[in-house]
Parts: sequence; C-alpha cells; structure tokens
Amino acid sequence: MRVIVGGISHESNTFLERLTGREAFAQGSTTRGAALLEAWQGTNSEVAGFAEEAAVQGLELVPTLLAWAMPAGRVADDAFEALVGELLERIAAAGPVAGVLLCLHGALATERYQDGDGEVLRRVRALVGPSVPIAATLDFHADVSPLMAEQADILVGYDTYPHVDLRERGRECAALLARTLRGEVRPALALSKAPLVPNILRQATEAGPMATLIALAHAAEAEPGLLSVSVTAGFPYADVECLGLGCLALADGDHARAQAVADRITAWAWENRHAFAADAPGPTEAVAQALASPRGPVVLVDVGDNVGGGTPGDGTFLLAELLAREAQGAVVMLADPEAVAQAIAAGVRSEVTLAVGGKVDAHHGPPVTVRGRVRLIADGVYQNRGPMRDGIVDDMGRTVVLQCGGLTLILTERKMPMWNLEQLRALGIEPTRQRVIVVKAAIAHRAAYSPIAAAMIEVDTPGLTAPDIRRYHYHHAPRPLWPLDPG
Ligand SMILES: [Zn+2]
Repeated sequence: MRVIVGGISHESNTFLERLTGREAFAQGSTTRGAALLEAWQGTNSEVAGFAEEAAVQGLELVPTLLAWAMPAGRVADDAFEALVGELLERIAAAGPVAGVLLCLHGALATERYQDGDGEVLRRVRALVGPSVPIAATLDFHADVSPLMAEQADILVGYDTYPHVDLRERGRECAALLARTLRGEVRPALALSKAPLVPNILRQATEAGPMATLIALAHAAEAEPGLLSVSVTAGFPYADVECLGLGCLALADGDHARAQAVADRITAWAWENRHAFAADAPGPTEAVAQALASPRGPVVLVDVGDNVGGGTPGDGTFLLAELLAREAQGAVVMLADPEAVAQAIAAGVRSEVTLAVGGKVDAHHGPPVTVRGRVRLIADGVYQNRGPMRDGIVDDMGRTVVLQCGGLTLILTERKMPMWNLEQLRALGIEPTRQRVIVVKAAIAHRAAYSPIAAAMIEVDTPGLTAPDIRRYHYHHAPRPLWPLDPG
C-alpha cells in the first residue's frame, strides 16, 4: 500500500512583527523525495518513526516535501503558498495512494490564515478526496482547531515536553493508519477544547498537573474501543481563534465515545486550572540567587526570550545583569549576525568592543556594549545526542566565542535553542564546569540540562514568550480564556 509522507511544520509566535519567509524553511530543513527519508533516518523524529513502522506494517512510503523552520513570526503568505503548492503538486504527481502521513505542528499561523495547519489539511483533503485516510502528528504545543479534527482521520500529538517522543508518536501514527488501511479499525476522531492556556512553566510533562493530565490520557487509551488519546497544551503566544488546551481522542467507529473521553479530560484540566499558574522571579533577583549558589552550574532560564517559542534569541536582560555583577564562570549565548561579522573581521585573539543583542525588536532589551577577546571562531555545526533530537545535525551559522572577563559570550549568526549539551561542547565549552549558564528556553532545555544542573532558576524576563501571558493583547483568541480572564 502506497502512503504519502510530507508536511509543513512551524510554530508561529503571532506577537513577533517579523514574518517567516521561504529562506527560514530552507535554512531550517526542507527535504524532497527520497532525500526526505534519508535526512531523518535513524533520528528521534516523526519521519524516522513513520519509516520504521512502515517497514513493520508493509507500507510503501512515497516521500514528497517536508518543510520545517525554527519557531518565529507568522509565515509569509508567499512562503506558505509556495510550500503548500509544492506539497500538493508532489502528492498529485504520486498518482493513486492508499493514505497520507503528515508531519505538522498545530500552531502554524500565516499572514492570511490563523489556522495554517487546518488549511494544509483542508487542501490535502480536497486533493485526495474523502476516502483516503489522512493521519498527522502534532506538537504538544498545537492549538488544535475544529477544522483540523474535521479534515484529518487520525491526529496524534506528542505526550512529552521536553519533546522526546517524536519517533514513538510517528510510529503510533503510522501504525494507526496501517490498521485503518487494512480495515481493522474505523477511526472516529473527536476534539475537545478547554478555555484555558496553561502557563508555559506548568506545561512540563514530567511532574505537576500536566503529568496527571497525560496519565489520564494514557489510562483512557487503555479503555476498550479507544485507539489513541492526546493532550495538546496549546501554544500560548499565538493570538488565534483556536488558542488553548485541547484533547484529541480517537475511538474505533464511535465518535460519541471519543467525544466523551476528550471532554472528560479537558474538564479535569478546567477544574484544576489554578494548578497551571506559575510565578518566577525577575532578572535582578534571579541573578542574585544564581550567584549566591554554592555549586554550579546554575541554569538561568530566560523565559521571555525562549528561542524555541519563536523569539529572536538576542535578549539582553540577563547578560546586562550578569555583567553588572561581574559574574565569573557565566555562559550566555546570543544570536547576533552583525556582531559575529565584526568579531570575525577582528580575528582570533583580538580585543573587540561590540554592541551585542537587542537588535531584532524592542521587546528583548537594548543592545549591550561588551569588551572581550575573540577566543574561537567556529562553523556552528553540531550533532545532537541524547533523549531530544538525537542524531539531528543543527547549524547555528558562523559562531564566535568571546571572553569578556569572567563571562563567556557565544555569538551566533542564527538563533538556535539550547536543546543539547553538544552545542556548547562543539565550541570547547564543557557545560558541567560552568558556574552559571543562561538558556533562552522555558522547558525544552531540561532534557539536556536537568541532569547536570545544580539548580535551575526560571526567570520572568520581559519578551515575547514571557510566562505571564496577561502581558499581551489578544484580539482573536476565544474569550473568556483563563488566565486572561480570571475565574
Ligand atoms: Zn512544542
């Protein structure tokens, strides 16, 4: 049985002014045809899971187009149309197929479409017709819409944050499609939403209310007649009609049953909404706490500039505070192509004075002037190892390590979340021997940094991924919505 593989995956932070264009997908990962499967083979990714399960189930995969870009602002209309257009052309050129496997995110927004994923699914459905099953994987941060649930037959979301189960969910999704194609099951998909956006710092699945919610979903999956149950936490930084926590339940031939299960799980989330609130100290208090710690490394989490949530990665609030206190043994990374070029022009071992960070927009602090010695110039390429993104090669662009007194400043051409220890090790920086490491993240860094951190301090820095979403103005999100509307 021939099955299409493809997708367009983006987490769009609608508060950013800058749009995400075609070059961001080229720079991220855009693969076509046979190269699509080769690129992701053996990694911890959905596609690797699709391929492994296809081999077991006897599905013949027809790779088309898979485009992924680093989380950022809304996708530009021309980029979206070009990518979806190519995806549809390639699906059409494949001829008759039994099914479709898509790798989506669930929080894709474009200039024109608030629900970009729903639009992708709608167009693929229109092309393949009502009788070809469409199955897709979604990120845990999907803001799932009724349109998505309507157009797809099978939707499977990650169960983890940090996201470490991509390959597993890819396998689950492909297995469900294979069983459907063999006529063993008739998937009935239901979506339930709660008018609630969990604080990003309460979205971790290892403990707390989200762990309970995932446990409820797993218990429901084991009930007779249920095929799959996914909780989607929602992506808070998207002012869209489909914003919010959701549950997707897939039952065998019984939509009412699927709906009842999904509703039961979102009802629990709503009843326990106050457990999804979080507080964090501001930069001054957090840096004082970090420097007072008897042991390192202390991980300072710059939540307001969470690169994995779309921000520029050039926020300077924590850098400024660490420099003001003459912190020793601190590591900070900023994306700043201009400063990289200046440091490279100066050359290794030269002393430079640079204005760094705070250049993309006015939300992440002003540029900070630093004086330091250019210690290293590198290509910025490394291969991830460990539970998250294992095997995937990431590229930060040209990268400079600047020694500014006791502070090590890493400047990169491209923003790259600190998801893996190999990122620092590739630059000759051993993370376990640092006193303080600033990570521009919320939860995802924990997969790499929890095992080595002496302490972890989440900081309520200003920015476009701040933990308290009451900082932002929402115009499209459904109201009332907790915590924007108290109660
Ligand atoms: Zn996510």
